[in-house]
Amino acid sequence: MKLIEHFINGKSFSGKSGKKSKVFNPATGEQTAEVNLASVDEVNLAVESSKKAFLNWSNTPPLQRARIMFKYKELIEKNSDELTKIIVSEHGKVYEDAKGSLIRGLEVVEYACGIPQMLKGEFTENVGSNIDSWSLRQPLGVCAGITPFNFPAMVPMWMFPMAIACGNTFVLKPSEKDPSCSIKLAELLHDAGLPEGVFNVVNGDKEAVDSLIKHKDVQAISFVGSTPIAKYIYEECAKNEKRVQALGGAKNHCVVMPDCDLDQAVNGLMGAAYGSAGERCMAQSVAVAVGNIGDKLVSELSKKVEGLKIGPGMDKGSEMGPLVTKDHLKKVKSYVDLGEKEGAKLVVDGRKLKLQGYENGFYIGGCLFDGVTSNMRIYKEEIFGPVLSVVRAKNFDDALKLVNDHEFGNGASIFTRDGDTGRTFSSKAKIGMIGVNIPIPVPVAFHSFGGWKRSLFGDQHMHGPEGVRFYTKLKTITSRWPSGLRSDPEFVMPTMK
Ligand code: NAD
Repeated sequence: MKLIEHFINGKSFSGKSGKKSKVFNPATGEQTAEVNLASVDEVNLAVESSKKAFLNWSNTPPLQRARIMFKYKELIEKNSDELTKIIVSEHGKVYEDAKGSLIRGLEVVEYACGIPQMLKGEFTENVGSNIDSWSLRQPLGVCAGITPFNFPAMVPMWMFPMAIACGNTFVLKPSEKDPSCSIKLAELLHDAGLPEGVFNVVNGDKEAVDSLIKHKDVQAISFVGSTPIAKYIYEECAKNEKRVQALGGAKNHCVVMPDCDLDQAVNGLMGAAYGSAGERCMAQSVAVAVGNIGDKLVSELSKKVEGLKIGPGMDKGSEMGPLVTKDHLKKVKSYVDLGEKEGAKLVVDGRKLKLQGYENGFYIGGCLFDGVTSNMRIYKEEIFGPVLSVVRAKNFDDALKLVNDHEFGNGASIFTRDGDTGRTFSSKAKIGMIGVNIPIPVPVAFHSFGGWKRSLFGDQHMHGPEGVRFYTKLKTITSRWPSGLRSDPEFVMPTMK
């Protein structure tokens, strides 16, 4: 059985904890590997290696750090097929979708290539007579990232390229469900010339996460995962005096207005609800049908959901792959059972799907509910599977109220031809990322990614300008040189005379 190890100090590191977790190919249901889970000692070793590397790395000129990022970009491009296949083999999503997610991660590397420009400070000459003042941003030290299973390349790449380019060193703790991608990303970064210890990967579970949070030499934690764990990470980091950004779960609404281009809305919803089998934090899991458009929307959607091509991620014809694990499949199916019990109308039922030749794979067909109401658990909770709920709303105000009353605030979209409606929605929705006639409004690398409400605990979003702010500390220097010095002591607060 293949054993997936840690990556510490520039090379593979054999775990000694004796704790392991199983890794599966979701398409076939077969176990393909085991991954070593780190003990506290192994986490300590990774942090120590990163702490040692910080001294030289933080003093390396930004342009030299950027050159490594340029080289890394080339290597990821060269190895994109292999990386994509790793994602498909452990996560299950279809090849082109996996490749797209890798490219979205690569775009953060491209953005990080511009770090010399982003680290330029601000300077004011003569803030007082003969006094100058300037501000600059310095790296924090050892930073850590804890990532979810659904984007094994992209989400880690929201974090470490920015952290490292800013002059920090980084310890990544990826999801134990699909850990191989992170190891390959680490190997390529070292092939690009990154010094040993600047980027370490420890595989692990709660024990590894807790040790990172408690470690006195870890300065900041970036987390992406479910809301209960995000909240826990945020609280524990506060207790341990660490800077933190903890991105959580979502329930993204798509408001479909009666004046919209219905084909565009239906196609947008299909990709956004069923792409990656709904295992995206920006997946649209609620369609809010406004006014009289509901029946037509449900009828168009149901035809397409029934026609979804489901199969292994490596099959060219597949539009939707399996879910990540057997347990996750069970959880998603139990939500569909719950929806029926709660009185929603199950228009398309994907629970019975069996794929010939892949009977043990973790598949479920697309599911579509109509008549969902805001008091139902299938509306309130994140299902994280290919299950779309249609909620009917009388008018735009009711639709907006639904969006704003929901506990999550990651993304939301509106389909309309009316500029006023689109603009009002963009302005009034209490949501971090908005799409107007765009189904999945994931910001590009040079903007920042993050939700509102219980979809993000902390103050700063990921990558883009907020990424630079999160991974650096601001310092402001005020100076005066001898010809401007006054001789007498001053005991009052200096002010402009
Ligand atoms: P998860 O919360 O179960 O796990 C995320 C990470 O936390 C993993 O590395 C895991 O090992 C670790 N972890 C799990 N339980 C822990 C515990 N008790 N203590 C400490 N660490 C723990 O999430 P997941 O199932 O891997 O990923 C799916 C979730 O991630 C969904 O809720 C999805 O919405 C969310 N997500 C959010 C975003 C976003 O940007 N907001 C992006 C991707 C995924």
